[in-house]
Amino acid sequence: MKRSLAIALLTIATAVPALAQSRPPEPAPIATAAPAEDWTVKPEWISAHVRFLAGPELQGRGSMTRDEAIAAAYVAARFQGYGLQPAPGADGYLQKVKVIRPRLDGGPKLVVGGKPTNGATLLFGGAERVEGVATLYMGDDGAALPAGDVILAGGPKLSAMAALRATRGRKTKLLVLRESEETQKLWSRLGERPRLDAYLASQAPEEGVSVVVLPAAAFDRAAKSAGKPVTMTLPGLVREAVETTNAIGYLPGTDPKAGVILLAAHLDHLGVQPDGTVMHGANDNASGTAAVLELAHALSSGKRHRRGILFAAFGAEEMGGFGSRAFAEAPPVPLNEIVANLAFEMIGAQDPKLPAGTMMMTGYERSTLGPTLAARGALIAKDPYPEQNFFARSDNYALALRGVVAHTISGWAVTPTYHSPKDTVDALDIPFMARAIQSLIGPARWLADGDFRPDWTAGGKPTE
Ligand SMILES: [Zn+2]
Repeated sequence: MKRSLAIALLTIATAVPALAQSRPPEPAPIATAAPAEDWTVKPEWISAHVRFLAGPELQGRGSMTRDEAIAAAYVAARFQGYGLQPAPGADGYLQKVKVIRPRLDGGPKLVVGGKPTNGATLLFGGAERVEGVATLYMGDDGAALPAGDVILAGGPKLSAMAALRATRGRKTKLLVLRESEETQKLWSRLGERPRLDAYLASQAPEEGVSVVVLPAAAFDRAAKSAGKPVTMTLPGLVREAVETTNAIGYLPGTDPKAGVILLAAHLDHLGVQPDGTVMHGANDNASGTAAVLELAHALSSGKRHRRGILFAAFGAEEMGGFGSRAFAEAPPVPLNEIVANLAFEMIGAQDPKLPAGTMMMTGYERSTLGPTLAARGALIAKDPYPEQNFFARSDNYALALRGVVAHTISGWAVTPTYHSPKDTVDALDIPFMARAIQSLIGPARWLADGDFRPDWTAGGKPTE
């Protein structure tokens, strides 16, 4: 699950899906073995997935790393073993997505009122070149930051993060801050490297606000040029091409006109931190990946369903949802054929606010999907943390914005191990996971076999 607000400002853009345009393979006959109601999700199957995915070997499955690619290869191998086909139009189970990850060698070049400044440090990069007119603000209230394309903000008690938040949704292109204890801490938290937004290679970069810090004396000199032109350029900008990996499997349905269901989870996590700490990400999100795997395991057993089912494990969610965004940009089936999307995030712990054994569904009241599945036995309930806006913070959102009824199912989204090195396999409640996944099999089969098509409730469909 992505972090919110300010931290989201530290993130990325998108990539090109590499689904080959070859003919889809003929669906293989699917074994008619155990009937659905006899299927039992075994805790040891879940344990096997999470021990591999969140084990020491995979080093926390950092977004766009080899570890992430190995996790995707594991999921792909399982999909194949369960008898799934590659997605329609794909020649394999792995989808490679190109992402551009910019980096800056050296500092930014900042010219204020025709005079070059010394000692500028770039914290966050929005665009390669910024031009505008300087507006000076020496107040301490970040929320009262004036509008303008370039703001020089140097109040002695100004919160840099509050000032940055105030620029959101405005046309501000550059925020120049006077160096403070807070900006120094921020710089060290960034690992003393500017945070530049990555983006999908298939899309133009999003140009957010750039944030530059000037040493006090340099800031005070620049402040005398309020009202004059400012330019900032990044002469040492390098656009490094990296790759994330999605694993996608497909269970063909018997009725091509009945639509497709998408069950998904992100497989990446935060990897190895600059200080060497490994973030294993057992709950976030080896647990959700295990849910998708075990739903694939169960739903590929027994007779074929009327609707097709796509199973996806997305890469690079933590860095900006690149895997799911690339999927939504070039889906293997037209998006209007996707009847419903369920994403699974952090189902490894039980939320003490919910009845025992129950998971939450983000945006539950936004569509008819959750209540209908719950009435069929799915152990899901309303999200008790609407203020956290979890609905917009996971992979379901890229599809929901495009109109697909898409939600995320989560166990305890605000668990104390969230984004900490303590998010390990030992902290998972595997019996809870097994029961929770078990409860979804019947409702998922019902959805796949029937003609119920969920819809948004009034005002439930998200708009950006
Ligand atoms: Zn996360």
